[in-house]
Amino acid sequence: MPPVGRRIEGTRRTDTERETAMSRKKVLVLGGNFGGLTAAITIKHELHGDVDVTVLSASDEFLFTPSLIWVPFGKRTRADITFKVGPTFEDHQVDFVHGAATGIDPVARRVESTAGPQDYDYLVIATGYRNRFDVIPGLGPDGNAHTITTMDDAIRAGEGWRRFLDDPGDVVIGATQGAGCFGAAYEFLFNMSYQLRKAGLHKQVRLTYVSAEPFLGHFGIGGLPHGETLLGMFLKKEGIDAVLDTAMDHVDEGRLTLADGRTLDFGYAMIIPPFSGQEVVSGSTDLTDANGFVKVRDTYQSEKFDDVYAVGVAAAVDVPWQTPTPVGIPKTGFPTEQQAHVAAKNIAAQIRGEVPQEHKAFGDIPAVCVMDAGNNGVIILADKMLPPRKHGVLIPGPQAHLMKLGFEKYFLWKMQHGQVRLP
Ligand SMILES: Cc1cc2nc3c(=O)[nH]c(=O)nc-3n(C[C@H](O)[C@H](O)[C@H](O)COP(=O)(O)OP(=O)(O)OC[C@H]3O[C@@H](n4cnc5c(N)ncnc54)[C@H](O)[C@@H]3O)c2cc1C
Repeated sequence: MPPVGRRIEGTRRTDTERETAMSRKKVLVLGGNFGGLTAAITIKHELHGDVDVTVLSASDEFLFTPSLIWVPFGKRTRADITFKVGPTFEDHQVDFVHGAATGIDPVARRVESTAGPQDYDYLVIATGYRNRFDVIPGLGPDGNAHTITTMDDAIRAGEGWRRFLDDPGDVVIGATQGAGCFGAAYEFLFNMSYQLRKAGLHKQVRLTYVSAEPFLGHFGIGGLPHGETLLGMFLKKEGIDAVLDTAMDHVDEGRLTLADGRTLDFGYAMIIPPFSGQEVVSGSTDLTDANGFVKVRDTYQSEKFDDVYAVGVAAAVDVPWQTPTPVGIPKTGFPTEQQAHVAAKNIAAQIRGEVPQEHKAFGDIPAVCVMDAGNNGVIILADKMLPPRKHGVLIPGPQAHLMKLGFEKYFLWKMQHGQVRLP
């Protein structure tokens, strides 16, 4: 249960300012991470402060999720990759309420929350994802395999890693049917290989990658030129086995059973589940698809309500292909920021009495990603997230690892200072 709400007023207002404020529009942003922080501060800037913006977030910290892959190995702690969002919002005259939304009424324009009700003129839903551990029996905090998709999960995965070092066995890293966060699975796989080598265990441990992807390097975005070959070379060099295009059935203690009955024994397993929208969003059936993601137009307005927007993982994306084993779409940080900018500009236009002019379909946003491999990696660039594309390139080498290290520091600085206009 999140703590009871706390409000930090961004400014102390005079009587005249208070009167003006009463006629001002109120924008409520749910979630204060990649999408929410970017949207909230951008809206404030777009209208030169002439709007009330409130962020309601279940967490009072920003979390740089791409570094969760390093937490289990002790390379990062919570303090290294988080910061308190209250002061950032205060600096940009955005009110911050620490609390979880518990109900959305898009007709009454009201959100219920653990910190009390919040009325709005415009709503931005940036509540991200929830692990769908029920995809197969044996996943979850009390299950038989670790995951790394939240800070608590990554901390538990680290406790398991330290136990494993005392009593090693084989290792399975995977992503279930319906998962979309394949980049994190690959990064953890290659970081695991690197750590096994550092621990002197590389020769005695069999490391296996198990994925719903139809081929190596599909990544949930249909693959990129030479990606399959490159990933194949990486796996061969590291002595990693791959089981692809497979669904999982269940995980027992020390054993993964695939849908076709094959089994893989392990001393350590990390499995990425599919994501769904937060319960508060999926509870509002007027807004969402079957996975609890908000159905949006390319303006990031909800399909049904002009004054409700959704960005980032919370926004639904139609998967443009059918694979033998279902795969999800990776909704990464760069498209999340782009969507937040589009939504902010469109809300500002609506408040000015104009028609929203910004359009950017998810599939047309460029793909910009770094896949870390411990002391090596791959830079992934493409002109569009989804095919058909004109350009797509994977650049392997140690510079990718250095780039991820540098990017982490830069991005945390950028977000903590609310410099959301920077790339
Ligand atoms: C392990 C991992 C590694 C990743 N690596 C990369 C990478 O290398 N590069 C990349 O580009 N992307 C990466 N991603 C994807 C990236 O994390 C997402 O694109 C990004 O987090 C999306 O931001 P968001 O704001 O939509 O959601 P989130 O970051 O999930 O933020 C959601 C926010 O909503 C809040 N919230 C949740 N429920 C409620 C509620 N009921 N009421 C109010 N607030 C609520 C949360 O507390 C949080 O602040 C990775 C993801 C994971 C899990």
